[in-house]
Amino acid sequence: MPEGPQMVFLKDLAEQFVGQTVLTASGTAKGIPFDKINGSVLNEIKTFGKELLFCFPGFTIRVHLMLFGKFAINSTLDRVLKVGFEFENGELNFYSCDCRFIEKPLDEVYNWKADVMNKDFDKEEARIKLEKKQKDLICEALMDQSILAGVGNKIKNESLFASHVHPESIVSAIPKKKLEAIIDACVKLSGNYLQWQQDGEVEPHWKVYKKSDCPRDHISLRKEKIGKTGRTSYFCDKCQELYV
Ligand SMILES: [Zn+2]
Repeated sequence: MPEGPQMVFLKDLAEQFVGQTVLTASGTAKGIPFDKINGSVLNEIKTFGKELLFCFPGFTIRVHLMLFGKFAINSTLDRVLKVGFEFENGELNFYSCDCRFIEKPLDEVYNWKADVMNKDFDKEEARIKLEKKQKDLICEALMDQSILAGVGNKIKNESLFASHVHPESIVSAIPKKKLEAIIDACVKLSGNYLQWQQDGEVEPHWKVYKKSDCPRDHISLRKEKIGKTGRTSYFCDKCQELYV
């Protein structure tokens, strides 16, 4: 699943269409008023966590790529089109994604302070919200999009490794300074992730995600589906402390 930095990367690729009028909007997504989009000017593109927001006068089209979403810029894919925008200077197409129509002002819908890629991200607020998830496993709490929007499985695994915290640690048992270190790692890794993507090479930078050995201890990493959501964790038993 794409994470926050990938959405910012995609937003940057699509910036070429900002200020352009949609000549034709089409697709099969339910609840999207394609007639209303036709002839509208794309004012701005924003991101919130794993969501892309196409802002038109008076409304927004929100696209979430979910697990298997795909997009194509100035080309098409052999799939069912969910939402496509055709502009004078090109086209933007989305497939296998979740699309929604938003009429409310975005500031009422989104808490920008929760988005790790947003300049207004509030780390203090994130820590307070994390602390409220007392009994949760840290590997699950980190994926809560209302606390750390944009953090997905890759950033989760890498930030826990960077801060030496075992994914099965219980939130209430983790010292405040450690929680802050985890949040800092999430923000730093998200920024790095975007940079690596812009440089065209991401995978070699991961320390534990889909890797086999701990780069610190040179022993085998554990790979396990942990918690209710069953997302895979990659971790080292030796250098990641278990707080319970
Ligand atoms: Zn280790």
